[in-house]
Amino acid sequence: MFFVTALIVVVVYWNRRLSAEIETRKTANHLAQSYLEIINRYVITSRTDLNGIIIDVSKAFCDISGYSRDELIGHRHGVIRHPQTDNKVYQELWETLGQGRSWTGEMCNRRKDGTTYWVSATIAADYDQHGKKIGYIAVHQDITDHRIVRELSLRDPLTGLYNRRHFNELFDKFLSCKLHYESQAGLILVDIDHFKKFNDTYGHQKGDTALAQVAFCLEEICIRLNKEAPSAQAHAFRLGGEEFALLALLDEKKTEDAAEMIRQQVFDLQLEHVNNEDFGVMTCSLGSYSFRVNSEHSNEVDELFRIADQALYRAKEQGRNQCQSANNQTADIELF
Ligand code: GH3
Ligand code: MG
Ligand code: MG
Repeated sequence: MFFVTALIVVVVYWNRRLSAEIETRKTANHLAQSYLEIINRYVITSRTDLNGIIIDVSKAFCDISGYSRDELIGHRHGVIRHPQTDNKVYQELWETLGQGRSWTGEMCNRRKDGTTYWVSATIAADYDQHGKKIGYIAVHQDITDHRIVRELSLRDPLTGLYNRRHFNELFDKFLSCKLHYESQAGLILVDIDHFKKFNDTYGHQKGDTALAQVAFCLEEICIRLNKEAPSAQAHAFRLGGEEFALLALLDEKKTEDAAEMIRQQVFDLQLEHVNNEDFGVMTCSLGSYSFRVNSEHSNEVDELFRIADQALYRAKEQGRNQCQSANNQTADIELF
């Protein structure tokens, strides 16, 4: 009797334990499923094989890219790569992964509808249960809004050119970038002639339109310079008021040519300016300086600017509507 009772107690006990175990597992499974669902819905993830072919994507990945799972699986990540993305980003990514480390960085992507979005991505190797590398896992965070705000903070709202703040940052970076060492760089400063009189004669509104037109000339020249030589990395800026700048990796001759191109293009706008001395149209004066980038230059941003500014001052003094190069006048100007 005792034996039978004991057996029943053991069976009931094990039955309850088993039920509790099954219940715990069910809860754990349910929880894991919920987490997976949340990840799938809200985390932009993708998995690739060792050749970079996509083998899985989350729903969030599809939502942001505009592609369906079927359109992505079996293809390379290149499907969403923005053509303007610098090759260097991908070179660095593969180099880092090749060294067995994970890579984190910002990437510019293109949706199926052609629009742009930005992500901050972390990519790491993916291993199977035996520790064998089978591919890569990427987790992305949408930073498009952040990039838009950042981009707006670098731009001048009137002309759309980069502003002085970005000029200071970029000039600094330009000089400290090791890739630029020993390259020849050119700085061109542009100042519209008698612009106060233009405002006084034609009104502030017309003045604003003229500033935008001059900015457009600078932008076009940058595009042309970058097309002729992508290594030029030409950028145009509105430094403030009626003052602009162009910064590029150009030698002395090309810097002077670019300055002359700007002068001519502004003159060719033929914007009436009756109070601009003998010219009758809007003109500008330019000062340029071409210098070799080296490690010593990294702290001399202000000095380089001052040299180009002195050349601009000479252009004003000698009658405006002209370009002066600091390189031709180094004997006259006080260097450092
Ligand atoms: P200079 O040939 O010596 O350069 O003479 P300038 O009159 O061009 O130079 P000045 O520095 O005396 O005047 C610059 C003028 O630029 C004064 C200001 O009214 C005008 N200005 C500055 N910012 C703006 C702007 O955003 N819009 C307009 N319309 N005018 C501006
Ligand atoms: Mg000025
Ligand atoms: Mg002026």
